[in-house]
Amino acid sequence: MKLVNRDTHCFQELSPLTFLERSAKVYSSGVAVVHSGGEVSYQELLHRCRCLSSGLKEMGVGDGDRVALILHNGLAAIESHFAVPSAGGIIVSLNPKIDSQAISKQLTFCDAKILIISEEFVHSFGSLFSALIEKGVQIIVVGLAKKGTDEQLIDYEALLAKQVGDTHLDAFIVNEMSSIAINFTSGTTGEPKGVEYSHRAAYLHAIGQVLMMNLTRDSCYFWTLPMFHVNGWGHMWACIATGACQFLLDESELNNIEHTFKRMVNSNATHIAGAPRLVKSIADHAADKNELKGLTILTGGAAPTPSLIEQMLDLEFNLVHQYGLSETCGPLLFCEEGKQWNKLTKEKLVAKKLRQGVPAIHAGNGVRVVDEHMKDIPSDGSSIGEIVIRGNTVAKGYYKNKVATDTAFVDGWFHTGDMAVVHDDSYIEIKDRLKDLIYVETDYGWENISSIEIENTISSHEDVNDVAVVGVKLGEGGECLVAFLELKSAGESIATELDEFCREKLPDFKVPKYYFNMTLPKTATGKVRKNLLVDEARKRILNEDS
Ligand code: ADP
Repeated sequence: MKLVNRDTHCFQELSPLTFLERSAKVYSSGVAVVHSGGEVSYQELLHRCRCLSSGLKEMGVGDGDRVALILHNGLAAIESHFAVPSAGGIIVSLNPKIDSQAISKQLTFCDAKILIISEEFVHSFGSLFSALIEKGVQIIVVGLAKKGTDEQLIDYEALLAKQVGDTHLDAFIVNEMSSIAINFTSGTTGEPKGVEYSHRAAYLHAIGQVLMMNLTRDSCYFWTLPMFHVNGWGHMWACIATGACQFLLDESELNNIEHTFKRMVNSNATHIAGAPRLVKSIADHAADKNELKGLTILTGGAAPTPSLIEQMLDLEFNLVHQYGLSETCGPLLFCEEGKQWNKLTKEKLVAKKLRQGVPAIHAGNGVRVVDEHMKDIPSDGSSIGEIVIRGNTVAKGYYKNKVATDTAFVDGWFHTGDMAVVHDDSYIEIKDRLKDLIYVETDYGWENISSIEIENTISSHEDVNDVAVVGVKLGEGGECLVAFLELKSAGESIATELDEFCREKLPDFKVPKYYFNMTLPKTATGKVRKNLLVDEARKRILNEDS
């Protein structure tokens, strides 16, 4: 019997584009998006996405063409996530916060046919336009201010207005394994790579997110996560699948945390997501525990600290701790709350919630923690191995980078580079990234230590707002531990006090030798750029010692 027959009543190519076609029927006048321009219903959103899709097709976008986006979180970004793949194109979301040289490199690398850019970024990247246009790249501007002044720029709204919008979004999907997006990793461990994944992966991942965060048609998802990073963890697709409302703030408003918090309260937000540092800045503004009680907060992308989890519990937020990578379309594991956890003391509950958790339903049984021979490590909470993953939401590979693909995707498993233990209840806990583990010399030999453990200790000090610990090789012997600190109030160094504090709580070989105060360099998603800190540490130590 032929097992895969696509041309039959019992098979449909999986794609998140079908979510909007369905939701526009079911929730037609329901509010899909609230943005500075007003409310957009599901029916209107579908119409606009269909128009953008046919506009792109008219401009020549076809199978596999890359369409780059330089957009802030806004209506156009949501629409592009449906319209670009509907036209057969591949979404390449670029980080508008990187410099024009890096943007130019990524545009050339992905060989974009079209660029969709918000007006507010034209002044940063406009100098690239003439070279792009010369190469045949067509540029669409969202919110084009001076219409008609530059014939070569296409006005987004004018493009939509010309279309009828009667073609179904999924009309041209011929294969669910076609690529839907290429996302550049944030580059915290090296040169960004273009992670490529399929319609099928995006569809299944979005369904997984709906389940993980309990999203329903009554939810109000308030955007705090940048949409350009891993397609906003697939949350625009997940929201549309369920009929939820997406609430968008302008970039200028988002920069003001106090204002953001107020808008969150006024909009009756039910869900937000972000890296632990962003979540912390929001929690710090929740003066009154009742203001957003019950809000579901998804956090991941980096390890949350015990003090952040405690703060979330005190504020009675529903914290969902997730783990994932660009290579898994975003979150893949989550710390599913055990039935008996509500009976635990706060301290024990915090320790449980710190763990990255168990595979989400869509991840199935495709997550293992293995030693260097691909043997599963024992579930004893102390043996360390690497997390390896396979499954329906894993990337196809790195775009135009065979060497990196062959290194990370080996014998059917994606090697994450994340080192973890497995507890006796099967929960996985990350100890560190392989690249961030620090090799130190102890009285009894070499020890491989986790920067996260030291960071968690230091962050529990009342004067510390944020911390990052790195290891620096200065000569013969092991690495020297250096802590970079953001203190709650600027002032004197608290190095001596912290040294004592750490010595009380950690073995001597885990106590940093140097403490430096500085604003931590972070990516747009709130991750610390440890690669930069290692160089900075070396510079400062040499300075201090000279
Ligand atoms: P980059 O690798 O450039 O930082 P990603 O955004 O794909 O880009 O980052 C994925 C990495 O983030 C993971 O490999 C892991 O090290 C880290 N990470 C993600 N979620 C968590 C989490 N909940 N706890 C600890 N680390 C996490």
